[in-house]
Order: sequence, then C-alpha cells, then structure tokens
Amino acid sequence: MKITVLGAGVIGVTTAYYLAKSGHEVTVLERQSGPALETSYANAGEISPGYASPWAAPGIPQKAIKWLFMKHAPLIIRPTFDPATWAWVIAMLRNCTSARYATNKSRMVRLAEYSRDCLIDLRSETGISYDERSKGTLQLFRTQKQLDAIAKDIEVLAKDGVPFEVLDAARCVSVEPGLAPVRHKIVGGLRLPNDETGDCYKFTNELAKRAEALGVRFVYGVDVQKLNIDNNRVDTVLTSQGIFSADTVVAAFGSFTPTLLKPLGLKIPIYPVKGYSITVPIIDESRAPVSTIMDETFKIAITRLGDRIRVGGMAEIARYNRDLPPVRKATLVHSVEDLFAGAGDERSAQFWCGLRPMTPDGTPIVGKTAYDNLFINSGHGTLGWTMACGSGRVLTDLINRVSPQIPTEGFDLTRYA
Ligand SMILES: Cc1cc2nc3c(=O)[nH]c(=O)nc-3n(C[C@H](O)[C@H](O)[C@H](O)COP(=O)(O)OP(=O)(O)OC[C@H]3O[C@@H](n4cnc5c(N)ncnc54)[C@H](O)[C@@H]3O)c2cc1C
Repeated sequence: MKITVLGAGVIGVTTAYYLAKSGHEVTVLERQSGPALETSYANAGEISPGYASPWAAPGIPQKAIKWLFMKHAPLIIRPTFDPATWAWVIAMLRNCTSARYATNKSRMVRLAEYSRDCLIDLRSETGISYDERSKGTLQLFRTQKQLDAIAKDIEVLAKDGVPFEVLDAARCVSVEPGLAPVRHKIVGGLRLPNDETGDCYKFTNELAKRAEALGVRFVYGVDVQKLNIDNNRVDTVLTSQGIFSADTVVAAFGSFTPTLLKPLGLKIPIYPVKGYSITVPIIDESRAPVSTIMDETFKIAITRLGDRIRVGGMAEIARYNRDLPPVRKATLVHSVEDLFAGAGDERSAQFWCGLRPMTPDGTPIVGKTAYDNLFINSGHGTLGWTMACGSGRVLTDLINRVSPQIPTEGFDLTRYA
C-alpha cells in the first residue's frame, strides 16, 4: 500500500519506519529541512513509562494557582481571550477527578510501557545509538508533603506491575552521587529502575536513515496545506510542492494536527503547551547527573545525555508563541545549579523551546478517524519520546488490520465522542 506520513518528528519517523518494515511504500512530508527539528529537537530526554501521568490530576487546580505565583514557576499562563485556549483548559480541568485520572494514567502507562519494550527491540535490531542510558529515573522530593502525595501513583504502578523503589535521602545520593553536596535539601525519591534516557533528535535522525534504507522517501521543505476528500477518503494531499496521492494518510503533525484537520470537520483537542530546555556541556563529570532527576518542586527534568546535561520543563499556555524570554532560561539555570552546581558550563547553554502537543486527558490520539483512509498519531504531550515506538507499532498494526499487542481501548478519537 502507498502510505503518506505527515510530519517527520519522532512520531512520524517511528511510524514511517514500522510501516516500511511491514512492507508498505512510505513517503514522509515535512516542512523543515530534516527530521526532528520542532518539538522532538531538544526535549528533556526521559523515556519514562513509570512517570507516564496526565497533568490533569486531583489537586492540580489548587496547585496551579500556587505555581502561577512562584518565582521559578512551572506553569505560566499568558493572558488571552482565545476561545480555543479556554476550551482546552476547561476540558483539562474536567479531567482532574480521581476516577478520570486513574483511567487516563492507566492508558498512558499501558502505551508507554509497551513503547519502552518496542524501543529496546528496535535498538537491538538496528544497532541504533543516541546517547542512550538504561539507568532508571529518580523523582526527587524536597518536602514530606510531596513524598506523601505519591501514594496514588504507587498504587497504579503496583497495579500495572511497573517496578519502583521509594528511597530515603541517603539512597537518592547513592544512585545519583552528584547530589551529595545537597543531601540536606532532599527528603526522598521515587526511583523507576526500568526507565531510560536518550537524545530524541539523534534517535529520530538515525531512525530516519534506517527508514530510508528500507525505502522510505522523505520530502523536506514541503508545506502541507490541505487534504482533499472524495467519497469519505483522503484523495490527495495539497502541498507547496504540488499534489501527492496515497492509499492511506497518517497525520503526525504534533501541535499542528488540529489546524490541518479542522477543515475536514475533525475537532482534535490538542493544544500547544510550550516548554523550554537548556543543554549544557559537562565540565565536572563527578558532579554531573548519572541519569534523569525529576525535581518535583520546580517540575524540571535534569538528564544526562553523553557529555551534556539537558534541563527541561515548564508549561506555558501561550498558543503558538515561540519566543525565548531570558527569564525562563534563568529558571532552568537555577534548577541545575541548585542540585548539580559546578557540573556544567551554563554560560555555553543552548536555550530552546518546543510546543508539546497536549490532549486534555494526557493520552495521545492513535487510531483511525471518521475518514476511511485517514489515521492520526498525535497528541503525545509531555511523553512523545517515551511513547513514540509503541505508538508507531500500534498504528502500523491498525493500518494492517492486525490486532496490536496491547489493548487500544481509549487511544483513538472516539473517546471524545
Ligand atoms: C521542554 C520539553 C521537554 C520534553 N521532555 C520530554 C521527555 O523527557 N520525554 C518525553 O517522552 N517527551 C518529552 N517531551 C515531549 C516530546 O518532545 C513530544 O511529545 C514529541 O516531540 C512530539 O513529537 P511529534 O512528532 O508529535 O511532534 P513534532 O516533533 O513537533 O513533529 C511534527 C512535525 O510536523 C511538521 N509539520 C507541522 N505542520 C506541518 C505542515 N503544515 N507541513 C509540513 N510539516 C509540518 C513539523 O515541522 C514537525 O517536524 C518534551 C517536550 C518539551 C517541549
């Protein structure tokens, strides 16, 4: 079958790879000059099924108000009258009940765990490398209240059979020796030993090369403008470089998927939640993190990527704005210096922002649409790197009309019906 994948972020490229492996003739259309140059470029690097949680959780509305007034705020809402922004915020708040949180988290963990296993298989079959590490991740708590609040998450982890360890301060330091000088700031941690880390940009570029070797055609610098419909099917794809035709189309435009599909009458509840990162060269290995540390106070992830430290986080509700305000960089620099002072050269930090394609319930949208040959693989929000391989495989199975290896209940658009 001839399949066109729209977008060469980590989601589009993994999808294209699995589709080509299963024998399809695949073309990928991407407006940038190469793979992973938008949200998949400099994320925090965590492959973290254990932390797969929706942001919409009980207690979040109250916490959000507090966060808005913090000096190094994890949440920023730029004033706007945009109805789409407020519709998404309200839909997200509706998901903050205990029951919805449990359902949403369970869906996310199911896909994320499967995805990590697919990544391990893919690594061994391709020999791909991307500054990867399999040393777990550590959620760090600075207050007893934070530590006590993990009871619900632990329940879901135990129920889903995800291994975890609750650590005291001394054990946090033993898994992350660079924390020794700040042991007094730590109350405890939650360690997910099966989580991994790695550079999503390097991975996506390496996988694109493997996909090309399987026959995938990547067309870069092409702006996709419209999907032409005939008889409830996508007939052709109109682009800045002319018309492309295909038997099946996969929309993997991340935060831009709703814009493309709106003229087809498809309401896709994905909002671009902006985040920031800095990438810092390591100057003192002994003080650097070993893997990922998720600082619960600032909601910032600090990850070791080869000879660099990636510090990423913050959620800014600002539509498609891509400014880089120095004050956000200062927050990231503060976070890494507060825990790993002297490990990196912050003066050489590369500052970046990306638009997370967030659904209000946290689970991505993976599956068929109301159009016979149009599929979506989008809306992976905070965990697109974590969920990429699993989502690509699930979607390939659905297109091939083969039963996916995990239940797909709650993955497609019908959950919003
Ligand atoms: C600060 C930050 C930290 C993060 N940390 C993590 C983490 O630690 N772990 C994790 O799992 N996830 C993390 N994420 C989330 C993860 O990066 C995203 O979920 C993921 O990159 C989304 O991938 P995507 O392929 O859907 O989107 P993208 O990478 O944005 O890809 C979509 C592609 O579509 C193309 N496109 C869009 N419109 C058009 C058009 N009209 N024509 C042609 N091409 C078009 C774009 O150019 C883009 O390349 C983080 C995100 C941010 C912002």
